[in-house]
Amino acid sequence: MRSILLIVLIYLSCFCNSTQGQKRDIPGPKIFQYSTLSALLEGVYDGNLTIGELRKHGDFGMGTFNALNGEMILLDGKCYQATSDGKILTVKDSTHTPFAVALNFSPDTIIKLNRRLSMIELDKYLDRLITKPNLISAYRIRGSFDSISIRSVPKQEKPYKRLIEAYKKQGVFNFTKLEGTLLGFKFPSYLKEVNLDNYHFHFLSNDKTKGGHILNYTISIGEIEIKTVQNYELQLPDNAEFNGTKLENKKKELQLIEGSRK
Ligand SMILES: [Zn+2]
Repeated sequence: MRSILLIVLIYLSCFCNSTQGQKRDIPGPKIFQYSTLSALLEGVYDGNLTIGELRKHGDFGMGTFNALNGEMILLDGKCYQATSDGKILTVKDSTHTPFAVALNFSPDTIIKLNRRLSMIELDKYLDRLITKPNLISAYRIRGSFDSISIRSVPKQEKPYKRLIEAYKKQGVFNFTKLEGTLLGFKFPSYLKEVNLDNYHFHFLSNDKTKGGHILNYTISIGEIEIKTVQNYELQLPDNAEFNGTKLENKKKELQLIEGSRK
């Protein structure tokens, strides 16, 4: 395995008012990310990072696996693979990822949800809760889902096609009356070259039999947990695919990731 070329640490400034009115930075949890969204869009589907290494950076997160082999769900320290034929597999630490995000999740805001909301309605509700739009928000939403639509991307063969092509054979699964957890992130728009500047959620059912990337849902009751994060570590792959790819974010292609949101 090749060594990692570059580790970039970005410390986002958050000046929080203390009770004395002084400003100070509060050290806190760190979001770790491997590779960039624009690399994934361009078909850079093989990375050098193992799941074991990823799990050292957090017990919560999402991503995919080498060869774009399904959706990753990292929840409560365990890594799951939602395959395009609808299975949920437990992932070995030796498995590799081309793109993943992780952190040790501990909420700083917890809100009980006791009314029925569509995905768009919940997005708008979450929007109103954002008081620091230039920081990164992580979400864990546990609840009962009246309906839910999830997808998983299929394993690719070389030469890899771009993500917009790979999605054409995704598996889409619709369920009703499902209990489970949404987990995900929203990055600020100025970071959109490296991650999605919209809500990006993956899902895992409580019985660990259904999961994937969220396309749509209606939630009835639940609990919303939010963590706002100011520390962000980006580790870039050092392999021929990443180094040889021109990286740019094509916004219209992100509609595929965002599902019904836009
Ligand atoms: Zn996803």
